[in-house]
Amino acid sequence: MSVIQVDALVIGAGFSGMYQLLCLRDKLNLNVAVVERGAEVGGTWYWNRYPGARCDSESHAYQYYFSEDLAKEWQWTERFPDHAEIRRYLNFVADKFNLRPNIRFNTEIVSAKYDSTQDVWQAKTDQGDTYQAKYLITAVGCLSTANVPKIEGLDSFKGQWYHTGQWPHEGVDFRGKRVGVIGTGSTGIQAIPVIAETAGHLTVFQRTANYSIPAKNAPLTEEFKKYVKDHFEEIRDITRGNTNGQAFYIKDRSALETPPDVRQRIYEELWEKGGFQFRASFNDLLSNKEANDTAAQFIIHKIRQKIKDPAVADILTDIDHPFAAKRPPIDTNYFETYNRDNVTLVDIRHAPIERITERGIKTSDAEYDLDIIVFATGFDAMTRPLLRLNIEGENGLPLAEAWKAGPRNYLGLQVPGFPNMFTITGPGSPSVLTNMPVAIEQHVEWITQCIADMQAKGFKKIEASEEATANWLEHVNIAANKTLLPLAKHSWYLGANVPGKPRVFMPYTGGMAFYRKECEAIVKDSYAGFLRS
Ligand code: NAP
Repeated sequence: MSVIQVDALVIGAGFSGMYQLLCLRDKLNLNVAVVERGAEVGGTWYWNRYPGARCDSESHAYQYYFSEDLAKEWQWTERFPDHAEIRRYLNFVADKFNLRPNIRFNTEIVSAKYDSTQDVWQAKTDQGDTYQAKYLITAVGCLSTANVPKIEGLDSFKGQWYHTGQWPHEGVDFRGKRVGVIGTGSTGIQAIPVIAETAGHLTVFQRTANYSIPAKNAPLTEEFKKYVKDHFEEIRDITRGNTNGQAFYIKDRSALETPPDVRQRIYEELWEKGGFQFRASFNDLLSNKEANDTAAQFIIHKIRQKIKDPAVADILTDIDHPFAAKRPPIDTNYFETYNRDNVTLVDIRHAPIERITERGIKTSDAEYDLDIIVFATGFDAMTRPLLRLNIEGENGLPLAEAWKAGPRNYLGLQVPGFPNMFTITGPGSPSVLTNMPVAIEQHVEWITQCIADMQAKGFKKIEASEEATANWLEHVNIAANKTLLPLAKHSWYLGANVPGKPRVFMPYTGGMAFYRKECEAIVKDSYAGFLRS
């Protein structure tokens, strides 16, 4: 039960917490502690070890770019790295920069209170210790809170059940088993083909049909590996200078203004290439429904071509939202999996799940006997990872109260009433709409610079102003409504996947490049919108 005094407490040791530690400790010489509930570094990749889990951003973009040495020393093996390789990478980073001495593993922060009498944060751990820190920095990710839907009867189920985001480290043996997967988002779409390879029988319960683009994953060629090493600065600058943080630009051409035969050829080429570049084929896909329809129809046609049974194809292509209005998955043999004899697709939009029984899942028109249920049902995203920390700001204001109508955050970085607390990739920042390491590096570097400036000028406190926060939120809303993204009614971007959660479009759609400039301009303008004292 000790009290541990530090300059900065960082919560979480994934991509963001590790880099934040490095910056504050080695650049600013602060005394920094990181508290991590997992047993190793890795963040999202520590928990998401489900079959087929791999990154949807290409490996040469999905890495840190702050150190050329690091980039030259590390070598990815595949175009889209799997979860184990990403953990190896993060462990390599932890070793190279000697990060572990500052990280306390297997420990959770259970509450954090701002003590205005001393201007410090008091954060309690589940081990009974208290950290006293001037700065509290959350590096908890956007998707670290698994959403297991409250389906009646789950407790009575006699088989095993798992959520993909809390996957057992020893793995799950599906051989010969009757397996049910609920959920066909990015996770389900990755897991379903791999589970189908070993399961006795796999039943997929689909509520909302989804688009998916082939990943075309492959080992990296020697030529490409050399290209990446030789073009470190160029690749870094592309990822930092564009809207989505990827190592390619969104093409500056309109789908609607492109002649149909040329547009078709472009879609065909990008479909063959695989990955997120398909989404970047035209600049109006996310802003104009008619333009979006051209991509949607192309994908639906491709899906139908892959599926042998027209009734199954009907269920898989009954899609209710524009392409990429939900985070678009990429896949390896996803649709082809439904041609297997051991796979059944169940349309729970039309025959909903009524309950889970001792034996399996009961829908309104049948009962499915199962040995294992896999919930690929996503996350209580963006807000729950922060709310679960039980944070109280000035005057005992709980974050849950401050955010009862949805997250209120200036630039996704600071909440008014919560001084000296920074939220890396918080709601209201581009975060999940970008390639995450790029958004993370930008936030970490901004926070580091901000703290350095406070130290240099002798400020004790920084806090987002109410007015700047209100203006920013209005801007976030306007930006979202200029896109088609709010049209996806069941999207987790809107909080719509969790019953009772306020419906607010949470990530910032204005693009990483614009956002970065905005953050830089605010620094130049003496931290406009922040109150410093
Ligand atoms: P998700 O996109 O929220 O998808 C959850 C799925 O579960 C949806 O199909 C949803 O149906 C279904 N579902 C949820 N609650 C349900 C219920 N009560 N009954 C029936 N079905 C239910 O979650 P996710 O697939 O885990 O992906 C979340 C995010 O994680 C992604 O968007 C992406 O940002 C990230 N991710 C990244 C990678 C990567 O880069 N490697 C891989 C996986 C995930 P509805 O659509 O009808 O709600």
